[in-house]
Amino acid sequence: MTTYPLYLNGQFVPSATTMAVINPATADAFAMIATVDRARLATALADAHAAFPPWRRLTGKARGAYLHRIADQVESRRDEIARTITLENGKPLAQSLGEVTMTVDHLRWFAEEARRAYGRVIPNQVDGKRHLVIKSPMGVVGAISPWNFPLVLAARKVAPALAAGCTVVLKPASQTPICAVLLAECVHAAGVPPGVFQVIVGPSSAFGDEMLSNPLCRKITFTGSTEVGRVLIRGAAASVKPLSLELGGHAPVLVFADADLDVAVEGALAAKFRNTGQSCIAANRVLVERPIYERFLEAFVAKARSLKVGDGLEPGVDIGPLFDEAGVAKAVEHVEDAVARGARLLCGGRRVPGSRGFFVEPTVLADVAPQSACMREETFAPIAPVCAFDREEEALEQANASIYGLSAYAFTTNLDRAFRLMETLEAGTIGINDGVPSTSQCPFGGVKQSGWGRELGTEGLDAFLETKHVSLGMRV
Ligand code: NAP
Repeated sequence: MTTYPLYLNGQFVPSATTMAVINPATADAFAMIATVDRARLATALADAHAAFPPWRRLTGKARGAYLHRIADQVESRRDEIARTITLENGKPLAQSLGEVTMTVDHLRWFAEEARRAYGRVIPNQVDGKRHLVIKSPMGVVGAISPWNFPLVLAARKVAPALAAGCTVVLKPASQTPICAVLLAECVHAAGVPPGVFQVIVGPSSAFGDEMLSNPLCRKITFTGSTEVGRVLIRGAAASVKPLSLELGGHAPVLVFADADLDVAVEGALAAKFRNTGQSCIAANRVLVERPIYERFLEAFVAKARSLKVGDGLEPGVDIGPLFDEAGVAKAVEHVEDAVARGARLLCGGRRVPGSRGFFVEPTVLADVAPQSACMREETFAPIAPVCAFDREEEALEQANASIYGLSAYAFTTNLDRAFRLMETLEAGTIGINDGVPSTSQCPFGGVKQSGWGRELGTEGLDAFLETKHVSLGMRV
């Protein structure tokens, strides 16, 4: 079994301590990863600090060239990296290939954005002064990423931070660390100087504390649960550490009677079942206008039943395993809770009988009571609760009745309604007649308790830049 090293200050470093990495399709360990303690993170932050001045002095174009070379490396190892995503995360191989493709696109987008860290010249109010706004890289960044998109969500942080001129210490999720090591191999092969990018694995809470309290770490960018986000917010109070937070979601899907039914069914299916429902932007609640409710259910259930469940490495699989045993337990609990509150179970609803891995059947529930757990909490499973509504205002009120506001979807052919919805839905990303809205060039992030700040787009670069006003006195 391969033991993967960490990537510290330009070297691949083994460790006396290791941890097993589990394949969710078999529940067996397939690799080991080195782990280190908090003191080693402090050294990594110091190395990143030392690497910062020469990296920031490079032109944006030169940093962009490094990012293009990293992208070339990732692209040339596409199949191997995708296979690794499937092994450590469980998602179907086709979706892992999509994750690699999106990662390459993020790297190339920020390679190009590196040249566009524009400032401004602001007209003076009094004679003898000139005002400039300039952008400077923040410094050493601590990046913490989750397991559900182990490669692309790390790239969403690393690419803009490096483009901006920051150096990065990445802490991937402990259960999916190998993609981060493969990314480090690509960074290394691209010739990025030592200390500019590092990968470290170890105790998450202690690492969080170190990033929060160590003055060399100038920013933390985190993707994960709202619960851990709150821990970081509390910890950041002492040092007033800047945080970017990409947290949980509870996306509503609104399907109106005027929608193209085929588009709505396909869109809701993609929004719900992609990544086996373990996506922060996954559809958690499907609200359908009553005149088309039963027709929608019939078509949606037929599609859900046709999804092939299996090991993500098998051809043609649509639904892989859940990530771990806790995910299966939560999924089954959510189904049982909804049924106990009067929901109709239209398909699925169980752990796949006889499976060794963490497989749950694609599930559709109808007439789900609003107080059901699946209508309030992230289910993170292939479980679709569907309910009927009568009026647009009622649907909107239900859609916004959540502490979360990461994404929302609506299916309608009424242009007036589409504008009303995009203006009033409380979500950072809104898909109108589109179940797969994320793309490199558009900002991504949450409102309410789904987070602070934005990744991707031009905003993604700005998240790693300080804005400075320079007032220049001059002789006129
Ligand atoms: P998680 O438990 O919050 O873990 C996320 C990362 O934080 C992991 O690397 C984890 O490390 C680390 N971590 C845990 N406790 C920490 C602490 N006290 N201090 C510092 N780091 C800590 O979330 P998850 O279960 O991996 O991911 C699922 C959640 O992420 C869902 O809520 C989902 O909606 C959200 N998510 C949001 C987005 C978005 O863009 N908004 C995208 C994807 C996922 P260990 O693995 O070592 O514990």
